[in-house]
Amino acid sequence: MNPHERRLKPDEVRGLIVDADAVIAGTEPYTREVLSECPDLKAICRVGVGFDNVDLEACRDLDIVATYTPEAPADGVAELTVGLILSLIRGITWSNDSILAGNWDRHIGTLLSEHTVGILGVGRIGSRVLRLLRPFGARMLGCDIDPKDESVEYVNKGELFRRCDVVTVHVPLNPTTRYLVGFDEIHSMPRCSFLVNTSRGPIVDEYGVLSHLGDRLAGYGADVFENEPYTGPLIKYPNVVLTAHIGASARQSRFLMELGAAKDCANVLAGRPPENPIEVGP
Ligand code: NAD
Repeated sequence: MNPHERRLKPDEVRGLIVDADAVIAGTEPYTREVLSECPDLKAICRVGVGFDNVDLEACRDLDIVATYTPEAPADGVAELTVGLILSLIRGITWSNDSILAGNWDRHIGTLLSEHTVGILGVGRIGSRVLRLLRPFGARMLGCDIDPKDESVEYVNKGELFRRCDVVTVHVPLNPTTRYLVGFDEIHSMPRCSFLVNTSRGPIVDEYGVLSHLGDRLAGYGADVFENEPYTGPLIKYPNVVLTAHIGASARQSRFLMELGAAKDCANVLAGRPPENPIEVGP
């Protein structure tokens, strides 16, 4: 167990897993240096879908099987995303903060049907967000390097940001997606737009967000941050809604994630093929 109640540093991970046969893993760093000092390690079983914290090439070289639970968190993250979008366009947390401060300000928000929503990354989570938002009557556009969902019109990234006044980000973090949403993308959005990131912090340039709040951006919603726990300048803005990386923290999602990781851990240790191996190139 992680005794620190925060994200572990590589040395702390090594100290905890040095004698382990398998790890049920969160988002702590599994670097090549850490893995190469764990001689018995046979499996890293991610409770969740993002695996940017696991050095997969090192796993391949060291004969460590890496697994994940791709479907389990999707409903939880998609529902939180919808919650953040609704909170932003109606000023829900803003109104709550205002009442707590002793005021009675009646904010005029917008309906989703007034917006064009762009989904950046129409995979498992992005597709669910699309389906959940459709009954609200929003116009929807998607952007994906490998389009699979035939129910949405796809555009390139530039067009997505130019045409959409709500953009929600659902791509994985890898070297090609770091700062995929930067100053220029946000700057090209229509005035008074909203941006939501429930994917991974470094995909959105937080300084690009800060530079545009109150101008291009009428609001920003984030569940993930470049540095977590987040204590940075976004906390000072009333039109920013922040959650503490709780996308998958819904009871059913969490149960399925933990069960899936434990099952694949047992599979690997028993010499059976795992249900959800993370594929690594040759
Ligand atoms: P997924 O692999 O099913 O979908 C990702 C989609 O992004 C794919 O369709 C892929 O083709 C697309 N994509 C990749 N690079 C792209 C690019 N440069 N431009 C456009 N599209 C691109 O993944 P998913 O299950 O939908 O999860 C998405 C991410 O959500 C995960 O990688 C993880 O980082 C994050 N996540 C966050 C939480 C949370 O608690 N907030 C929980 C689970 C997952």
